[in-house]
Amino acid sequence: MEPILFKHTEIPDLDRLEVYVDHHGYAAFRRAITELQPQEVTQIVSDSGLAGRGGAGFPTGRKWSFIPKSVLPTYLVVNADESEPGAFKDRELMERNPHQLLEGVAIAAFAIGCQKAFIYIRGEFLYIGEILDAAVAEAYAAGYLGQNVFGSGYNIEIVVHRGAGAYICGEESALLDSLEGYRGFPRLRPPFPAIKGLYGQPTVINNVETIANVPHIVRNGADWYRSYGTDQSPGTKVCSISGPVNRPGNYEMNMGTTFRELLEDRAGGMREGKKLKAYIPGGASAPMLPGTEANIDISLSYEGYREAGSSFGSASFIIIPDDVCILRAQLSLSEFFAHESCGKCIPCREGTPWLAKTVRRIESGQGREEDLPLLLDICDNILGRSFCALGDFSTSNIVASVKYFYDEYEEHIRSQACPYAHQARAVA
Ligand code: SF4
Repeated sequence: MEPILFKHTEIPDLDRLEVYVDHHGYAAFRRAITELQPQEVTQIVSDSGLAGRGGAGFPTGRKWSFIPKSVLPTYLVVNADESEPGAFKDRELMERNPHQLLEGVAIAAFAIGCQKAFIYIRGEFLYIGEILDAAVAEAYAAGYLGQNVFGSGYNIEIVVHRGAGAYICGEESALLDSLEGYRGFPRLRPPFPAIKGLYGQPTVINNVETIANVPHIVRNGADWYRSYGTDQSPGTKVCSISGPVNRPGNYEMNMGTTFRELLEDRAGGMREGKKLKAYIPGGASAPMLPGTEANIDISLSYEGYREAGSSFGSASFIIIPDDVCILRAQLSLSEFFAHESCGKCIPCREGTPWLAKTVRRIESGQGREEDLPLLLDICDNILGRSFCALGDFSTSNIVASVKYFYDEYEEHIRSQACPYAHQARAVA
């Protein structure tokens, strides 16, 4: 399979405009604004089956079509606030090929009738922010951004905005609050951003990888894109794989190939003879799966992981080897969610630290008989009762780890010790 997003990334200096242009750069944008109507661009993207690559998997063209035609201004915001444990694909896409993203932004903005777009980048990505700034400046200087682009009469401005490093600002409505200069708190919905988003105006929010696909789809067509992947999950997906594998990193995979291919062929298999105990397929919010043969053969697709009882999410694969205590791995996830809870609603604000405290107690050998039902009860009181998805996410791996590794929880409580205490406590 020829990669789509990583196709030219081995070419030296691809981050420079002239090199990008030499490899079909901005041809799709030129075609869009000089040959197509905005609704035709939206239709091509709809027909391609491209779905949101940030985790939710919502159809991209349909999201664009929600923007009312009669209300101006409209905004496009790119969510580059990548900060979930295990996720690091957007960083590489921006770092290695920033103009691919900018071209996608320009096309998407045209499709939704927007003349001002924002890239909201995670604050810690300091040098990548600088790469984007330089790419934006080059594109303005060459006339690919700004007023009357390609003599078409279309104007487009792109602003790179740094966040301050809060996971909750990856939640789209909190991101909008943050972009407006407020503390990043999720908003009550409806109204949804397509109707009332940034500055109260219709707004589309898309992930970096989603937008990076757009130039290729507009240039090559929907049928070409559908020649990749499966019927339900067309295209490719950049999968991040981390933990004790021989070649951790980002790999662009044809949707529908198996996790085995990612793990064994691309990532070089488990390191130092370790065995796969469990893995999390879609970033910290996706339920873990035990490392059985059947789970290794799951197809890399939204439907594949849905059928397996987990979530493909952002395709951020966290590998947990057999020498790592599952409670210790869970504890690091629970501490992350407790730390990142924004505090707006009670179930999450009170529940996430309580989960972390309870897992910590069991893992350290001080667990009580009642702690296991307590853990599940707290999850029950967070799930579906929180203001935004972060609350629900904090429960996914507690429920999954108790389901699949109940014996390990019981053993900690029964023996009042961690069976892995003699080993290094490094978490994959
Ligand atoms: Fe904030 Fe958590 Fe409530 Fe979301 S679920 S609004 S992160 S406290």
